[in-house]
Amino acid sequence: MTSPDNSPTPPTPVDPRDADLSGIRGWLFDLDGVLTPTAVVHMHAWSRLFTPFLEAHGAKPYSDDDYFAYIDGKPRYDGVRSLLESRGIRLEEGEVTDAPTADTVHGLGNRKNDAFNATLAEEGVTAYPGSVALLDAVTRAGAAIAVVSSSKNAPAVLAAAGLADRFEVVVDGAVAAREGIPGKPEPDMFERAAELLGLPTEACAVVEDAESGVKAGAAGEFGIVVGVDRGVGREALEELGADVIVDDLDELLPAVERAAAASAPESPAPSTTREDPS
Ligand SMILES: [Mg+2]
Repeated sequence: MTSPDNSPTPPTPVDPRDADLSGIRGWLFDLDGVLTPTAVVHMHAWSRLFTPFLEAHGAKPYSDDDYFAYIDGKPRYDGVRSLLESRGIRLEEGEVTDAPTADTVHGLGNRKNDAFNATLAEEGVTAYPGSVALLDAVTRAGAAIAVVSSSKNAPAVLAAAGLADRFEVVVDGAVAAREGIPGKPEPDMFERAAELLGLPTEACAVVEDAESGVKAGAAGEFGIVVGVDRGVGREALEELGADVIVDDLDELLPAVERAAAASAPESPAPSTTREDPS
């Protein structure tokens, strides 16, 4: 970006191919939107909840537009409240412990969670191939990996995606609640994951797609913050503090391989890797 009037220009994130990963020994991955396209599962689950509910109430039918207008990005019960309000439907608040069959705000929220788990079980979720390629590459290079997710459904999503066996360290919403760890945008969940991997934060990369997550990474002393643009936008991710921005995590493979080759104790220089013809 040029600035003819000498106004300060924001620092441009480095090209993913040039990312310096030399000191990175651990990778802390967000889950939804980074390893798995979980938003689709959530959208289907909300539709499963509200399509029959609105029909039974004679209200305007539910559509995916409702998801983006009233639900996306909000805590579950807020999403329920907001959608109901859009249809002029008033329900009792109820309690978090309400049965999923209860026609209360909390009952509907709990019904949505059941719908999420049912949708996940039926449809499954396929991890992003580029993300799996990066997991393979960093693991092969000897780095440790962890999942850091606000979701309390993280173990179920990891299992559905066939990734559960890869992660010994998962700091999710349930762990955070149990241990009293502040959620994103505070850096604490990522810091806890680094601690569980036995690494200083400086030796860890944070990989995030959400505003709150990139903020959390930028708020800590991490080695590098990778922003994955799944819709937030490169500019926003950059402003929030991402050091490198990618559309797909496979863009980091060359940098990972270069760092691995440089740190391998007996690795030959690239020019001598060709097979000797003799
Ligand atoms: Mg995410």
